[in-house]
Amino acid sequence: MTAMKVDLHCHSNVSDGVLAPAAVAEYARKAGVEAWALTDHDEVGGIAAARAAAEAQGMRFVPGVEISITWANETVHIVGLQIDEHNRALVEGLACTRSGRDNRGREIAKQLEAIGIDGAYEGALKYVGNPDLMSRTHFARYLVEIGACASTAEVFKKYLSEGKPGYVPHCWASLEQSVHWIRNAGGVAVIAHPGRYRFSPLAQGQLFDEFKQLGGAAIEVVTGSHTPDQYPEYAQLANYYGFLASRGTDFHAPGESRVDFAALPPLPANVTPVWKDWW
Ligand code: AMP
Ligand code: MN
Ligand code: MN
Ligand code: MN
Repeated sequence: MTAMKVDLHCHSNVSDGVLAPAAVAEYARKAGVEAWALTDHDEVGGIAAARAAAEAQGMRFVPGVEISITWANETVHIVGLQIDEHNRALVEGLACTRSGRDNRGREIAKQLEAIGIDGAYEGALKYVGNPDLMSRTHFARYLVEIGACASTAEVFKKYLSEGKPGYVPHCWASLEQSVHWIRNAGGVAVIAHPGRYRFSPLAQGQLFDEFKQLGGAAIEVVTGSHTPDQYPEYAQLANYYGFLASRGTDFHAPGESRVDFAALPPLPANVTPVWKDWW
């Protein structure tokens, strides 16, 4: 079951990916994906098109979302899988989460202007597919376009991460809200790319405990946002905490991700996949 080609973490241009939902489905299918979730940031607007395209391509479809939260002063991402995208509390909660993004974008642009980078708001806006969802990724693409950096990863390192001149702190939803929205919408809550946060082992353990207590069910083990040595590490942690394991590329754009669809290894055999009861 762990060998099934499942990708439960992908972005379209409804958030900060570059392809339309149907095009992501096609791209995934061509790479051999058999079951696929669209998990746009804080937004479920792409799900209908994604579902239709996935079914037309003969893939099993999982409706998903990736919710931005603030926990212990850090931004953490919680993926919801098998959600009912029409659930009212979820839809309203996500709308509230998105509402500060445009203002944050204007602040980011102001800070960049102060260090001599003009027109970043308008520049980033060119890359935005959904006016409700301006992301740092869109700024990163613009800064690459104007030659400020060679890659989006470099832009994050130099300008958009905490402590850097274009970083604007933002307070997102709480862990409790996100897990509640997901579960209330019939979904399964998953901690996205746990190896990417800068928590101490103690704080990470507290996050896992709290998440579990709230009804969180899984963590991502194999993700394009983990290094290969983190796969066995998080497999072991999933088993230790009694979490199911998820797998996803965190695809945003062809050629932009660390790992493309075809290159991501399967889940280690010793974990229980989050999809164990789905098909
Ligand atoms: P936002 O939700 O606007 O704060 O943007 C977060 C998004 O930025 C993530 O979902 C990633 O797509 C992207 N991102 C964050 N850190 C990096 C990084 N170091 N390199 C490339 N992309 C990143
Ligand atoms: Mn993203
Ligand atoms: Mn994420
Ligand atoms: Mn993601």
